[in-house]
Amino acid sequence: MKFTPFWQDDCPRPADLPVADEPPGNVDVAIVGSGYTGLNAARVLAATGARVAVLERHTIGWGASSRNGGMATPGIKQAQSVIRKRYGEELARKFWQASLDAIDLLDEIVTTEGIDCAWRRCGHVQLAAKASHFPMLQEKAVSFQREYGHRYRVLERSQLTEEIGSRYHFGGLVDEYSGGLHPARYVYGLARVAARRGATLCEQTDVRRIRRAGSRFVLETGKGEVEAVEVLVCTNGYTDELVPGLKARVFPVGSYIIVTAPLPADLQDRLSPNRRMYYTTKNFLNYFRLTPDGRMLWGGRNDLSTDLDLETSAKILYRQLCSVFPELHDYPPTHSWSGHLGLTFDLMPHIGRIQGVHYAFGYGGHGLSIATYVGTEAGLLLAGKKASSPFAEIPHPTMFFYRKRPWFLPAVAQYYRLLDRVS
Ligand SMILES: Cc1cc2nc3c(=O)[nH]c(=O)nc-3n(C[C@H](O)[C@H](O)[C@H](O)COP(=O)(O)OP(=O)(O)OC[C@H]3O[C@@H](n4cnc5c(N)ncnc54)[C@H](O)[C@@H]3O)c2cc1C
Repeated sequence: MKFTPFWQDDCPRPADLPVADEPPGNVDVAIVGSGYTGLNAARVLAATGARVAVLERHTIGWGASSRNGGMATPGIKQAQSVIRKRYGEELARKFWQASLDAIDLLDEIVTTEGIDCAWRRCGHVQLAAKASHFPMLQEKAVSFQREYGHRYRVLERSQLTEEIGSRYHFGGLVDEYSGGLHPARYVYGLARVAARRGATLCEQTDVRRIRRAGSRFVLETGKGEVEAVEVLVCTNGYTDELVPGLKARVFPVGSYIIVTAPLPADLQDRLSPNRRMYYTTKNFLNYFRLTPDGRMLWGGRNDLSTDLDLETSAKILYRQLCSVFPELHDYPPTHSWSGHLGLTFDLMPHIGRIQGVHYAFGYGGHGLSIATYVGTEAGLLLAGKKASSPFAEIPHPTMFFYRKRPWFLPAVAQYYRLLDRVS
């Protein structure tokens, strides 16, 4: 078993990716982090003629953007009902619409830029993990149709075999809006688009310090200094103490994935007849799908830590996988890996500014399309091509008890496990 992300193994960083040997000395906008957020911001900023540098500590797309499940689904991390209560009807509508627009934007970028990343509007099924969860799914279908005109198709338990080759779950909701792709191929494709627009991409360029120099910023990197008029930090779950106060606004949570070897075509047809993507209703949920080359990808949280041993993680995830698909007993995992989600205390993505430095992050497990959208919005705001974004309008809460280490996660994990047990 390999402990590297399958996606990076299947599609290693292309040798001809247009990266610079050295970062430019002087730019209009320096972007820290080269995932979907940073590259999309770079894509739109560079298109306006701005001089943009994307500074990445590792290789392009190294973070969550080449490690995720590749599932773009409507909604954001926070529940829509909470969003409505907290921000009111109008903003709630904007956030919901943004989550749909995000998928359409992803679709548009991939299609118009010709990014070969196996993108398909395949839809997803949310599966009731317990009998008591099915009524919640039925209510969700009714309320989303009523409030937002969004259509979910409810599947009774007896109808599930139309969508999944398993008798494990208690009903489901089909959403045709969603799409799936190969995350690494998407991020490398985005990098090429940003570079084509004129952005300079810099790898192995760790930003170690940002200091003010008059009206400008100087970024001290492992490869020399970069002077910039504006700085946009797009480091999400990998945010460190680079900008004082920023780390307190987002904390890392681990997400873990395994994949099997490619499955025979008839087995793929049985397990996932319509090639949907799936996730379950628990807090400690599982997400799964077939990869473009026909492997079963199975993801979950295990616990919330970012450092669980990957062999232990593979054992836990594979046990879960086999309880849902007993036919996969003969297909042990070939890859086990993990990555960091970035969570905010209100479970909302944010575009903000601290000490003059701009930032965009906080997607939880919903960053494929939302990071694409929020990165684009952040870029357009900086370029003056947009006056506002709902993600920049809401307050960004911090908690006095978190500054450096998310010591509270084990207690939170226990709480959510308890909720899963009693729900
Ligand atoms: C295992 C896993 C599964 C997931 N599955 C899904 C899914 O199916 N669907 C979905 O919608 N979302 C999913 N997500 C979430 C999604 O992948 C992320 O929200 C999204 O990729 C975030 O993109 P980003 O550009 O903001 O951050 P990232 O892609 O994490 O990029 C941040 C980058 O910043 C760099 N960096 C950090 N500090 C510095 C520094 N000081 N100097 C230079 N560079 C720095 C890092 O090296 C990193 O490459 C998943 C995430 C994980 C980890």
